[in-house]
Amino acid sequence: MLVKGVVFYLESDLPTEAMFLLEDFRLAVNSSIRAGLQARVTSRNALVKIAYKDFRLEHSRMYSQHLVSAFEVACGVLKNHRRRVRKGVTGRIPFVKRLMMKAENQAYKLDRKSGIIDLPIRAGCHIVLRLIVSQYHRKYLDDMTLSLGSLTVLPDRVMVAFRKDAPKPYAPNTVISLDTNERSLDGVFVEGDVANAVKADFPEVAIIQQRHHDRRKRLQKEKAHDRRISKELCRREGTREHHRIDYMLHQVANSVLKFAEERRSAIVLEDLTGMRPKRSKELNRRLSIWPRRRLHQIIEYKAQWKGIPVVKVDPRNSSRTCPTCGRIQDSRMGAEFVCECGWHLDRHINASINLLQTAISKGMAGGLRFNPGAFQHDVMMILYEPAMAARSEPNGTSGIVGVT
Ligand SMILES: [Zn+2]
Repeated sequence: MLVKGVVFYLESDLPTEAMFLLEDFRLAVNSSIRAGLQARVTSRNALVKIAYKDFRLEHSRMYSQHLVSAFEVACGVLKNHRRRVRKGVTGRIPFVKRLMMKAENQAYKLDRKSGIIDLPIRAGCHIVLRLIVSQYHRKYLDDMTLSLGSLTVLPDRVMVAFRKDAPKPYAPNTVISLDTNERSLDGVFVEGDVANAVKADFPEVAIIQQRHHDRRKRLQKEKAHDRRISKELCRREGTREHHRIDYMLHQVANSVLKFAEERRSAIVLEDLTGMRPKRSKELNRRLSIWPRRRLHQIIEYKAQWKGIPVVKVDPRNSSRTCPTCGRIQDSRMGAEFVCECGWHLDRHINASINLLQTAISKGMAGGLRFNPGAFQHDVMMILYEPAMAARSEPNGTSGIVGVT
């Protein structure tokens, strides 16, 4: 099941009763987190068992479905906390700071035509939320193949989860193979006997990363006398950096997927899961790999939603191998890959050709073929460039909730 969270803003401020509900909900989540920690349980059912009775008394007026969903949210927090403890990242007791509540799909009603939500608060008390519905939102509201999942209410907006079964990927007619770099995706697009270079350029991502990296370093130095402040400032920096980069990566992914969908392409990417800096010194010098992983995550998720086939292959030696004669070179320095056999090509594009050949040799490219000789050296197709960000239409905000 695929889930997509769509954010809606409200026509008017949240009614007072709803604000009280958010506060109650946050309280319930935080006390069930403590109860869960004390009893050392993480599953929702176990939490319900140990804490429901007390909670019912404490929050006697809250709609009981919401109470169960508070346990659900607490569980998520506990699971994250446990993982962080295992990794040795934190020992602090977690809590939810943000005012929020989550209602499961049986616990609210959304009229998909009018965009009006009916949310029960307690026996005999319901509130009505009027959503601001744009064209972007209509796509989700009117698509009856999508079912409604949970509703998350925040003081100034709500998020509705739309769900659907993953569609079966189409049989591809063409293929795009992409090598993922810090500032760009570089690759090759193959249609029949013709192969062209393609590029999606996103230099800002590396620039933002570098800027924030430097700023963090400075903060750590300046606030060295107060670790608490320094940590807090760094955390804030990190969140902002992530949001900005995430937004850009969504734009890049959208462009790539639009191109792929129009040409019924399969997409070949390298599997980045094993990639780690070899020494801790490299960590300081190199930019973090997370934007590249994140970009893959977004592309894969959106492709699944649209039924576009995506293939991940092992990138080993992809930047050192000659695709025509198969020689593997010792070093991979230089912007151009040059082989003794006469083959030469931009290093990144060359890597993407190797990724494609790996996919084909493993039978993962939907029966498509490719011959390096078909590569046209003089054409470059632009999938994305920074100027496109300004032109792209605003589409509201959307977030990936997760795949269940
Ligand atoms: Zn060669």
